[in-house]
Amino acid sequence: IARLPGFRFFGNVTFGTDISHLEYKQFYDCIVYAVGAETDRHMNIPGEELEGSFSATEFVGWYNGHPDYLHKTFDLSAENIAVIGMGNVAIDAARILAKTADELADSDIADYALEALKHNKVKDIYLIARRGPVQAAFSPQELKELLELEMADVSIDPDALDLDSASEDALKSADKNTADNVCIMRNIHIDPDLSKPRRLHLMFLHSPVELYEKDSKVSGIKLVKNKLELGANGRISSKATEETIDLPVGLVFRSIGYRGRSLPDVPFDTDKAIIPNVCGRVTDLDHDKVIPGEYVIGWAKRGPSGVIGTNKPDAVETTSLLLKDFSENTVDELDDNLKPEAIEAYLKSKNIDYVTFKDWKLLDKYEVEIGHQHGKPREKVTTVKEMLAIIKEQRARQT
Ligand code: NAP
Repeated sequence: IARLPGFRFFGNVTFGTDISHLEYKQFYDCIVYAVGAETDRHMNIPGEELEGSFSATEFVGWYNGHPDYLHKTFDLSAENIAVIGMGNVAIDAARILAKTADELADSDIADYALEALKHNKVKDIYLIARRGPVQAAFSPQELKELLELEMADVSIDPDALDLDSASEDALKSADKNTADNVCIMRNIHIDPDLSKPRRLHLMFLHSPVELYEKDSKVSGIKLVKNKLELGANGRISSKATEETIDLPVGLVFRSIGYRGRSLPDVPFDTDKAIIPNVCGRVTDLDHDKVIPGEYVIGWAKRGPSGVIGTNKPDAVETTSLLLKDFSENTVDELDDNLKPEAIEAYLKSKNIDYVTFKDWKLLDKYEVEIGHQHGKPREKVTTVKEMLAIIKEQRARQT
């Protein structure tokens, strides 16, 4: 796509800070918001803000070398860790915690994270879902990978697999992923000794209600046992019972879904945390009025669910409408005299250090070369300052 004529990439440019909504409208006929869901949901329970309680977003950002999470520190001397939620992000976080240094070394994990994780003292990781195995949100492939870890056993409470009648019915008409998930879980062979040094416990039907504190840090988690209820709308939801249990844990990662952030001067539905739209055409909050020339795709359009395969048809829906609107002249087109160079001149006039796709390729090449020198697929450059310096150096070498 980047090689197609007419494609340009301007990196290191922040919407609303470097260039306002109004200014964008002066340079482009259309805007397509593809900003995803940058932040995360909260559990809203006492103790959630304690040291040692994090979002999985922070942990994933940290080990992936995302510049915004570079300075986070996680006390990896904790022997017991809770991960709240049972989606793919929860599985990703648990897998990284359970892997050995050798297993991690083949990945493109950030070097500082690899170094910290080498000294990881974790023994027990509790993945905690509020509903049952039929409602688990992870994909079978991700679950299978958990079962292949060198130094970690996976255990599951057999009682959780004794399904209630609503879940049993739901399973009969479930999609392939759900059916495969349950089948894999039913076949988890539990080594009675759990002989590997690390253990991953898949805990269903429990919700966190409080995090305990000791020396100003998380020291444990209180969970309430749930039962499942079939609602009038057909959704099976969790309902707390009177029964609670306490688990001693030194780290808690909540992984209960992402949440979109609003953009300056762009409508935002705070309940759904999305840009209000009808099939990708941005609207006002009541969905009464379409805003001409503004479109949205992906998680900013639908909320944080679905994988790449879900986002592709979603983008096709939006872009088809964009093309239709153009052909029907419902978009206010800019003056024909406005040259494509105008945006570059504008960014330069404001001293915005933007990078092009060619620059991005230089950085990519550099990361891959350095990675190969260390036997890794890539060595990520993790600060924007360093990225810009390397791009400048590589540009100079090319001229
Ligand atoms: P997700 O799939 O929506 O899973 C969120 C989990 O949190 C669910 O188990 C949900 O349970 C639970 N949860 C929500 N609110 C809760 C609460 N208040 N208390 C306790 N549990 C709660 O979200 P995600 O894992 O962040 O993933 C986001 C999307 O990215 C997904 O579509 C995922 O498939 C995708 N993704 C894919 C990959 C991959 O393909 N490798 C990797 C990462 C992410 P309920 O069902 O009960 O609400």
